[in-house]
Amino acid sequence: MEKLIGRTRLVLTQGDITQADTEAIVNAANSRLAGGGGVDGAIHRAGGPEIMAECRKIGSCPTGEAVITNAGRLKTKKVIHTVGPIYRGRPEDPRLLANAYLNSLDLAAERGLRTVAFPSLSTGAYGYPLDQAAKVALEAVRQGIVKNSDKLDEIRFVLFGQAAYDAYAHALDHM
Ligand code: ADP
Repeated sequence: MEKLIGRTRLVLTQGDITQADTEAIVNAANSRLAGGGGVDGAIHRAGGPEIMAECRKIGSCPTGEAVITNAGRLKTKKVIHTVGPIYRGRPEDPRLLANAYLNSLDLAAERGLRTVAFPSLSTGAYGYPLDQAAKVALEAVRQGIVKNSDKLDEIRFVLFGQAAYDAYAHALDHM
């Protein structure tokens, strides 16, 4: 599924983000950049130890912000590590989740990375309900594209499994 926002394509796909051939991929990191399970574990396993070596030098990343490292042996050029909120049903959860997407896109645009792949941030171990997260994610990405209108060619969601794909497809239909 695909939608054009200005001249930027917003694309929904299903698959494994470690295989993405975009110029940047985004990791759902934790604030200590310490590595973990889920998509973070998959990225470090597939990319090799160079990514973690750079994460250690950077040290940490607050919730809602983003940092950038090399991509080791992945196809992509750079990995953007961002930290979504642990879902607690607080009023600030959607803002923190949106910030994670927005700051990732700002960082990509700033570094001249024109195609970016995202996983569904916060919806695994961090427990954000998928339908709510999909709405926040797509609205934030739309805003980020508008803000960086001439710097981004394609933003792709690489969704892990049918349920995640369906939630994002539904949210995009209603946007
Ligand atoms: P968080 O801690 O932000 O919730 P997780 O990695 O636990 O991060 O989960 C985020 C989302 O990433 C979940 O929807 C999960 O199904 C998905 N995911 C896990 N592995 C991959 C992968 N290899 N590619 C894309 N998405 C993945």
